[in-house]
Amino acid sequence: MSDVIPGIPGFSFRNGSLFCEDISAADLAERFQTPLYIYSRAALEHNIADWKRGIEGTPHRVFYAMKANGNLALLDLFARAGLGFDIVSAGELARALAVGAKGEDIVYSGVGKSISDIKAALEADVCCFNVESLSELDRINKVALDMGKKARISLRVNPDVDAKTHPYISTGLKNNKFGIAFDSAVEAYKKASRMPGLEVSGIDCHIGSQITELEPFVHAAHKVLDLVEALADAGIELDHVDFGGGLGVRYADEQPPSAQELINAMAQCTRERGFGHLPLFFEPGRSLVAQTGMLLMRVEYLKPTAAKNFCIVDAAMTDMIRPTLYQAQMGLVNCTERTDQNPLVYDIVGPVCESGDFLAKNRTLAVCEGDVLSMLGAGAYGMSMANNYNARSRAAEVLVDEDKAWVIRRRETIEDQMALETLLPKI
Ligand SMILES: *Cc1c(COP(=O)(O)O)cnc(C)c1O
Repeated sequence: MSDVIPGIPGFSFRNGSLFCEDISAADLAERFQTPLYIYSRAALEHNIADWKRGIEGTPHRVFYAMKANGNLALLDLFARAGLGFDIVSAGELARALAVGAKGEDIVYSGVGKSISDIKAALEADVCCFNVESLSELDRINKVALDMGKKARISLRVNPDVDAKTHPYISTGLKNNKFGIAFDSAVEAYKKASRMPGLEVSGIDCHIGSQITELEPFVHAAHKVLDLVEALADAGIELDHVDFGGGLGVRYADEQPPSAQELINAMAQCTRERGFGHLPLFFEPGRSLVAQTGMLLMRVEYLKPTAAKNFCIVDAAMTDMIRPTLYQAQMGLVNCTERTDQNPLVYDIVGPVCESGDFLAKNRTLAVCEGDVLSMLGAGAYGMSMANNYNARSRAAEVLVDEDKAWVIRRRETIEDQMALETLLPKI
């Protein structure tokens, strides 16, 4: 028996068969059909513990960025473990409240908060709005005054730091749409502190995703702390510093720091700069869930051509868009190791009518038609980015807890897909 994901429990090979806790992936595929998202409760608990552990003497709080995976059963586990939530829409707010989160457990991020989003968040009394523009400050101030409330705010500052990740998931550079420019931040805080509907609470940054080194985090932290210092000089005291999310995971051969190492590094920066008393907020998404889930898919056809071998599976870019959107390289294994077949190099592709519909390219696999393959690290930005292109129904999700499997989202039906649409009257 060997763990499939180094350092994380939940997935193992036993006598050549992939298991999620005590159930074989082949059984799960048979019982619940494919494509199927499977999650391990043990893996989730492991990651939660990692993020909660923290550093002696430094108060910290973890707000799970639920855009990575917003399934209610997962959110419920996080809420029960005492984690808060980082949200980016009224829909995510409703999900947080649905699992019993209180306003104080919620931070609200995003560049495009609408008036109704802001109202809903104020009604819920969220812990903090992470504000991304001067116009948004004005809007929140006005909505809060209309409601007779005070909105607690942080400015999300853009530290202009290169996160050294894929350009689509890099968010802390000057030319990104995110955050308030570093050089305008102090002025913006002064403006905010004069607004009667606002209460300045903290400062926030989030420089990107799938960051695999500490250096960009440390660089960003020092720039944020430069601002904390400048604000203190201007008489503006903060009650927390939010270092965002972005911690990477090991999809292939990356060697990201652990949550513990990141928290430690941020705690050290804040202590060195004399702000060790400030609570630290984190907004991890991917690092909490990526390695807790896999995507099971069945091989429909093997299609050798003069140029390439194609392995056509029943999952597609509609189930997992990362490979085609970000050129992400995700691990893929046969759930039942084959010794009776010679390995060949395949492109693993789905049924969708797009050449960009691939899950992996140039992978060496020993595989037969009818086999079940598993994509590793699929717990983050998999199901949450799934869509209905080609009128494909979205996959089911199953949570495995030892020898029990719970359907935490049933498979979408074709009726579900059509339910929102209406025909014109025949006149
Ligand atoms: C996406 C996002 C996160 C989470 O990012 P991960 O890379 O998944 O950890 C946190 N905060 C904000 C503001 C985000 O946009």
